[in-house]
Amino acid sequence: MRRWVFVLAVLAIAVALVAAFRGPLAMGAMSVMAPRIMSANPMAEIPDGIQVTLCGAGSPLPDPQRSGPCVGVVAGGHLFVIDAGSASARNLQGMGLPLSDVEAVFLTHFHSDHIDGLGELSVLRWVAGAHQDPLALIGPPGVEDIAEGFNRAYRADARFRVAHHGEEVVPPSGKGLVGRPFSMPTSGQEVVVWDREGVRITAFQVDHQPVEPAVGYRIDYAGRSVVISGDTVRSPELERVAENADLLVHEALAAHLVAIMHATAKEAGMEGRAKVLNDILDYHATPVDAAESASAAGVDHLLFYHVVPPLLVPGLPAAFLQGVSAAYDGDVTLGRDGTRVLLPAGSDDIEVSGGT
Ligand SMILES: [Zn+2]
Ligand SMILES: [Zn+2]
Repeated sequence: MRRWVFVLAVLAIAVALVAAFRGPLAMGAMSVMAPRIMSANPMAEIPDGIQVTLCGAGSPLPDPQRSGPCVGVVAGGHLFVIDAGSASARNLQGMGLPLSDVEAVFLTHFHSDHIDGLGELSVLRWVAGAHQDPLALIGPPGVEDIAEGFNRAYRADARFRVAHHGEEVVPPSGKGLVGRPFSMPTSGQEVVVWDREGVRITAFQVDHQPVEPAVGYRIDYAGRSVVISGDTVRSPELERVAENADLLVHEALAAHLVAIMHATAKEAGMEGRAKVLNDILDYHATPVDAAESASAAGVDHLLFYHVVPPLLVPGLPAAFLQGVSAAYDGDVTLGRDGTRVLLPAGSDDIEVSGGT
C-alpha cells in the first residue's frame, strides 16, 4: 500500500513538473525538430513516376476535410499545381510539396473557387525560392487577365517585401504571376501545353456551360498517365482523351444529396440559395456520370475530387458513392485533402493513401 502511495506521489510530481515546464520543454523539442524539418527535401523522397496529391478536394461549400480545388502533381521530380482554390498554398506545404519548387500552375477555368489561392501561392513561392521569374500561370485565353489582376492586387505587398528583405532574398523580377495562354483546343483536339524532360501535359475541352473556356488536363510521364477533369458534365471528349489512363481524377456533384439541400432552402424561403443549388446541377457530373466515364475510358482507378456537397455526416460518403460500383468495376477513391496516389515509373502499381 505504501509503495502505491509513493508511486502515485512520484507520478503527481512528474505531472506537476511537466505542467510547470511545458513551455521550456516544447522549446527544446522545437529546437531539435526545426533543423530536421527545415533541411528536409521531401521532393527527393518521392519515387520516380507520377504522384498526385489532392491539395484541395472540395468546392466553395465549406467542408473541413475538403478545401477549394487543387491538385499537386509531381512528375519526374517536377512539381505542378492544377487549380489553386482556397488553402492550396497551406495544404501544399503541409503535404510536403514545397512552394519554392512549383514550376507552373495550370488553370482549368476561371471560376473563383479554382483561383482563390493564387495570390497566396505566388507570394509564398516567390519568397521561399528567391525566384528571378514570376510564377507561370498556364491556361486557356483569359489567363493573362487573372495574372494581371492578382499582380495588381499584390503590388503594394511586393513593394513592402522588397523594401524589408532586400532584392537578393526577393528579386523584384520574380514577383507575382505571368499568364501564359494556350490556344483553346476544339472538339476532338488536344493541345500540348507542356513538353519538357519527358513530362507531357495536354489540354482538352470539357463542358461546363455557360463557363467558357473550360479544359481538363492529361499528364504523361514514363509510361504512366493521369487525367484531371476540371469542372464538367459527363464528357465524351474526356473519355476519348482518358482512354486507358492509369488514373482519372474526376469532379462530382451528388445530385440526390444536393436535392435535399435545395428542398431545405426552398422550405426555409431562401429563394436565392435554392436557385443556386438548382442551377449547379446542370454543369457538374454526378458520381455515377464520372464512374460511367471511367468505365467507358477503361481507366484503372477513379479518384473523386471537387466533391459536392460537403460530406459532414457519417455515412454520407457511402450515400455519395451510391450507384458507382454498378457503373464502374475498377478501384475508386473518394478524395479528401491529402489523398495521394503514386504511379511509380516502370510498373503498373497504383498506390493510394488517404481518402475513403
Ligand atoms: Zn466551375
Ligand atoms: Zn468548381
